[in-house]
Amino acid sequence: MFRMPPASGPGSSEGHVDYRLARASVLSSFRRGVLDRTEVCDAHPELVRAAREVGTPIPGECPVCAQPELVHVTYVFGPRLPKHGRCISLRGELSRLAKRPGTHVAYVVEVCRQCSWNHLVRRSTLAGDPPPTAESTPVDNARRVGRDVD
Ligand SMILES: [Zn+2]
Repeated sequence: MFRMPPASGPGSSEGHVDYRLARASVLSSFRRGVLDRTEVCDAHPELVRAAREVGTPIPGECPVCAQPELVHVTYVFGPRLPKHGRCISLRGELSRLAKRPGTHVAYVVEVCRQCSWNHLVRRSTLAGDPPPTAESTPVDNARRVGRDVD
């Protein structure tokens, strides 16, 4: 569904991983001509659809096509969720999932609705603690760092 670095699948246990460096490296390869546009703008059709329908717009321009069409899409992996993850489409869904037993891992993917640029932004282990009282976006919830996992 989206590019996932091999050593950091849903099975690993760090609470929070940021992929900004990997993103910068992909973009640098693209600018140097090592990767061509079809290689960096290869969002899966399902991911493009999710970006259009449930993506959370983020400020800034697409690093590839310079259009202000960037969104974040959040997927959660965990017990009794589909193998390819659950795409978070409802406000509050993430905190409900976090309350379920078992470890849930959220992946936030940056997608451009214009050119299909996509890259994993971060992954977080969802903490099973009480949800925030104030309404928050899926992205805000995904930012919550998980409990310490041995
Ligand atoms: Zn773009």
